[in-house]
Amino acid sequence: MADEPVMIRRTNTVEEADIIVAWLDEQGIEATVYDHENPGVIAFGVTDTEGIEIFVADAEIAERAKELLEEHDRLHAEEAAVTSGETVQVQCEECGHLNSYSDELRGSVQECAECDAYVDIPEAGE
Ligand SMILES: [Zn+2]
Repeated sequence: MADEPVMIRRTNTVEEADIIVAWLDEQGIEATVYDHENPGVIAFGVTDTEGIEIFVADAEIAERAKELLEEHDRLHAEEAAVTSGETVQVQCEECGHLNSYSDELRGSVQECAECDAYVDIPEAGE
């Protein structure tokens, strides 16, 4: 089998690529970041319009890396779905309108969608 490096993932930023490389390293897979703008150099904090490519040593490792990345992506997608699906229902004390707010707004003060009165969004568990 040829020992050609195989591209397993293209990311928009070096930071993103770096996270993936570090994560793959934890899984026992050695990956390398290739930056088109600076061949052979890993430049931190640069956004490359061409994209940053992540390579592994050969096709066999690429196969494993891709499977791991798919699993990784799937887990992240599930996490995101859970977080974005959470809403807080708060009844307005002024007009009685039941407002729905994103879970991220807990602990803040928002305006009632109906009458613009201030509505306190309780912290989780209150
Ligand atoms: Zn209201």
